[in-house]
Amino acid sequence: MRLPENPQPKQKILNELSRLEKLDPQYKKAKLFSLVYYLGEAYTGFLNKVFYKFFSANGLNPGAFKSLKTMERNIVEMVANLFHGDDAVCGVVTSGGTESCLLAVKTYRDFARQAKRIKKPEMIVADTAHVAWLKGAEYFNVKIHRVRSLPEGGMDIDAVKKKINRNTIMLLGSAPEYPHGLIDPISKLSALAVKYKIPLHVDACVGGFILPFIEENGHALPPWDFRVEGVTSISADIHKYGFAAKGASLILYRHQHHFEHQVFVDVDWPGGIFASPALLGTRPGGAYAAAYAALLAHGRKGYLKLAKDALSATEQLKKGITELGFKIIGNPQATLFAYRSTQAEVDVFAIADLMEKRGWFIDRIQKPDALHAMVTPGHLRIVKDYLRDLKACLVVAKKQPELSQKGQAATYGMMAHVPFRKIVKKQVLKMFASTYRISGGTLNLEDASLDNSAAEGGAQVKRPLAERFALWLAERSRKRMQKSRL
Ligand SMILES: *Cc1c(COP(=O)(O)O)cnc(C)c1O
Repeated sequence: MRLPENPQPKQKILNELSRLEKLDPQYKKAKLFSLVYYLGEAYTGFLNKVFYKFFSANGLNPGAFKSLKTMERNIVEMVANLFHGDDAVCGVVTSGGTESCLLAVKTYRDFARQAKRIKKPEMIVADTAHVAWLKGAEYFNVKIHRVRSLPEGGMDIDAVKKKINRNTIMLLGSAPEYPHGLIDPISKLSALAVKYKIPLHVDACVGGFILPFIEENGHALPPWDFRVEGVTSISADIHKYGFAAKGASLILYRHQHHFEHQVFVDVDWPGGIFASPALLGTRPGGAYAAAYAALLAHGRKGYLKLAKDALSATEQLKKGITELGFKIIGNPQATLFAYRSTQAEVDVFAIADLMEKRGWFIDRIQKPDALHAMVTPGHLRIVKDYLRDLKACLVVAKKQPELSQKGQAATYGMMAHVPFRKIVKKQVLKMFASTYRISGGTLNLEDASLDNSAAEGGAQVKRPLAERFALWLAERSRKRMQKSRL
């Protein structure tokens, strides 16, 4: 494609975009269980209006767009209050959960450098912590200890304790973690954090705007927010269960003395004295305004109702899925969960393929192999359809066990079970990066193999034998895991 020579008619552009839109999952019909938090066209239209109003506004310089700075302060105050913080809480609106997580790693690393003279920073997380934390550790050069979760999910607090040493810059708990929707034992983490004087961040990116309302609706939840003494910061995404437009999250600190290490200042730049509170330079005014508007549009009562509906859909789905013979991992208390197979002949990845043929968009997870769902109020109306289709797919999967060796199931199964993780990583990296070449096209896991010949340099390694060996090992470890779980 080349930049068009002449300006294109607007209608033609809109038509082209409508055509592209058809490539996407059918989230408006609630067929998708991740990525999108959708509340219908009328509400989206309202946020769109707000977004448009501040479309060009830039939060880079808080002295220029006072509107955005005011909204940001109000958002921080409302959410600090929701999370039981006091007036000392400080924080910023960020572009998303990943930015919030990255910032926490950077902040605590720099705090530890200054306050404790720590030169080789380390952090401790559960293996179920969001990948944003792994990314943060890699970007900011912090050694990360990924503590393996207990057999049926949940953070292993004793294992965390064993990893604490004088280089530990932060502990992390999630409320809840994304893969299985389980809330980490924040109070126990807090006890460790207080005892060893280590900052404790709670990742409530997905839970921040649902847990408070689930609790207020009368469901007992373990405390996870600023009520817990050792919690020094919390991240929460307004663009998830806050139902804002994409591009809005939040990081809040209990103390300014931590937050100060997030702020970047340069006083000698020829472009002027420069201070920035977060990762981005230009900060999108539209997203901030839409986030502010979302909080106001729902209010406490609005969010209580949304939480009630989302939880109701979740409970119905969990019940139906369990009755079909699947097992929900752990005891998820929010509106996310994962389910796995309890029968050796039923491969959940094959089930996912079959469900996708029926128009659903299903997320696969690993260790153990399971299917994932993030549930919103919009899913209430599809509970019956989902369960009906799942039942039908289960029948087909049982009749055709060979499906686990075909389609995406084969690729996912292999990638989840090949023991040589470095080979897998290299291959995924190549495959993924190659989709970003001009000739790359879109990512397609259908019938992909370990050796992606489309990837540059893919043919350099002696593949066939290594690949067959890898496949054999994968199959073996997969069977062993299935057996040990039954
Ligand atoms: C979604 C999520 C993130 C990352 O947020 P993005 O907005 O996708 O960047 C981090 N942690 C948890 C627990 C999440 O669910």
